[in-house]
Amino acid sequence: MGAGTSQPREPHISDARIFDELREIVGARGLITSREELHTYECDGLTNFRVLPRAVLLPNSTEQVQKIVRVCHRDKIPFVARGSGTGLSGGALPVENGVVISLARMNKILEVDLANARVIVEPGVINSDVTARVAAQEYFYAPDPSSQSVCSIGGNVAENSGGAHCLKYGFTTTHVLGLEVVLADGSLVHLGGKILDAPGYDLMGVFVGSEGTLGIATKIILRIVKRPECVRTLLAAFPSTNEAGAAVSGMIAAGMLPAAIEMMDNLAIQAAEAAVHANYPDCGGLLLVELDGPVAEVAALMTHVDEICKKNGAWEIRVAQSDAERALVWKGELYCARRSDSAYRTAECDAGNRPAEQGSGFACGECVSRR
Ligand SMILES: Cc1cc2nc3c(=O)[nH]c(=O)nc-3n(C[C@H](O)[C@H](O)[C@H](O)COP(=O)(O)OP(=O)(O)OC[C@H]3O[C@@H](n4cnc5c(N)ncnc54)[C@H](O)[C@@H]3O)c2cc1C
Repeated sequence: MGAGTSQPREPHISDARIFDELREIVGARGLITSREELHTYECDGLTNFRVLPRAVLLPNSTEQVQKIVRVCHRDKIPFVARGSGTGLSGGALPVENGVVISLARMNKILEVDLANARVIVEPGVINSDVTARVAAQEYFYAPDPSSQSVCSIGGNVAENSGGAHCLKYGFTTTHVLGLEVVLADGSLVHLGGKILDAPGYDLMGVFVGSEGTLGIATKIILRIVKRPECVRTLLAAFPSTNEAGAAVSGMIAAGMLPAAIEMMDNLAIQAAEAAVHANYPDCGGLLLVELDGPVAEVAALMTHVDEICKKNGAWEIRVAQSDAERALVWKGELYCARRSDSAYRTAECDAGNRPAEQGSGFACGECVSRR
């Protein structure tokens, strides 16, 4: 793998035949071959590496994915699956002379089974859309990467993604129970199912986190979680991240399992303040601690967290008094997570700059907020 943009190859004599065949499968609007449009897909969030694919395909069904993969298998064309292209490890980077299979159009929530706390989705569904769909029934989808307003469930499965709340709730692997997968020869397999601990080898466990190397997930069974009775967020200011880190160790040593913990240094605090005015104290180390559960339990644990923070040098402790204040506290942290990745600023934005039918690709903050 080399840095920089690869030189686009001249169209091969056999490309026209293959493109015709692929166009038959996905229709004219599902095949991208023009150089300008292909640039959108030349990298993911790891923007130092760029390879122009030979073509991009936008299937809208499992059958179409199978047919595409069979053509690739027959003609030995390398392919790479792509969700929203926010990955930071180059997983969706095209292979030279290969094609990209974008799952962005397979973005339907197929089933909401509240009785069993399950949701079945297509791979292109955006992470935060799952919670949005079940929030009115007091449920949520727990894995919360900072990119959750743009990244896809298919990408989350491949990367075993997680965020601040995974300390308590676990990463994607804890919340994926079943998968429909198209293998490299185009055959279809079903792994796991709606029930916990399906008998046999844990092949689903192998697939989650395999970074797109074992097949393309076309249907995903997710576990959703009931909203806790009470959620409280505490913000503690320390002289430096050393003291803040010691307080985290103190909480874990005391047997606590906060729903989320985040630590910010002064640079991150300044950046977040300038952007979202979260009203953070100006300190060397800031801790955001979220506790959830029954009201009485959260109240008791809050007192304990307060004591541990003070014991470790916290000079200001605040508890968010409303949902709006809590959202603002997390907005600052989310901003920092996004901006700490330069890709977020530089990757081409297809949500804003491209017609919707060309896939969701990577979206910048401005476009996300407009959605
Ligand atoms: C600002 C920012 C913040 C981030 N914060 C976090 C974070 O807090 N936690 C975290 O874990 N990650 C984070 N990430 C990384 C990234 O968002 C996650 O890895 C996410 O899961 C990628 O999803 P995606 O849809 O963008 O996948 P893509 O980048 O499109 O693809 C990622 C990998 O998944 C494979 N893939 C995609 N769809 C499928 C499918 N249907 N079947 C099989 N393989 C597939 C691809 O081939 C590739 O290997 C962040 C990224 C950014 C840019």
